[in-house]
Amino acid sequence: EQKRRPFVLANWKINMEPREVGPYLEKVLPALADEHQVEVGIAAQDLYLSQMLAAAKGNPLTIVGENAHWEDAGAFTGETSPKALAQMGVEYVLIGHFERRKFFNETDETVNLKTLAALRNGLKPIVDLDEDLSAYGNLVPEKVVLAQLKAALDGVMADEMDQVTIAYEPTWAIGSGEAASADQAQEAAALIRQSLANLYGRDLAEKIRILYGGSVTPANGQNFLCQPDIDGILVGKAALNPEKFLALVDEA
Ligand code: PEP
Repeated sequence: EQKRRPFVLANWKINMEPREVGPYLEKVLPALADEHQVEVGIAAQDLYLSQMLAAAKGNPLTIVGENAHWEDAGAFTGETSPKALAQMGVEYVLIGHFERRKFFNETDETVNLKTLAALRNGLKPIVDLDEDLSAYGNLVPEKVVLAQLKAALDGVMADEMDQVTIAYEPTWAIGSGEAASADQAQEAAALIRQSLANLYGRDLAEKIRILYGGSVTPANGQNFLCQPDIDGILVGKAALNPEKFLALVDEA
């Protein structure tokens, strides 16, 4: 039996026009019909989630939100309620994606609040660690990623950790065409797992999935997927093409 089920997750960001959503799913869903080994998901902007949830019903495709606020409800115009996402049937939400940190001023503190809010509402957070050195003065990259991990999980209880996925997505690798090497990514994932073991114990740490993201393509995907501590991939640009996305699912 597999220790951790691989997770192949597309991140559409705010790409994809409304008219493109249906045809994309029509290509992908039949190809996934017998997919049990791998968890396959698509993160999409809120506007498309209802349509995607309806299309994915009864199919092995997981629909993922790209962001959620740290408050469940209230006067926060333009934000996404984690409670509403959960009630709509969304299972996972990305928290603290590199672009949220970079362009929307998300910090370790807000990432932590959002992680807690997701868990409180029964949404599974996919916590993104971007290893952005600029927020940490002169710390070395390994220290930054672990500091981000610890900060994000502050107050998360051991019995909630089976709901959590970690994504290691170094800033410099996202959208740059320059992926980390498989060795680099494995090293970071192993450090993250060791840190999870320090926080929650080895048994729990062995159950938590750690994804790699940053310029993954069908040409390099397998290199990441075969690493012992990498349990899946988060794919931006390449996943905008359904054939490439399916090729990556096949590799997992
Ligand atoms: C991402 O946005 O999470 C990502 C990994 O993007 P890309 O694959 O385009 O680098």
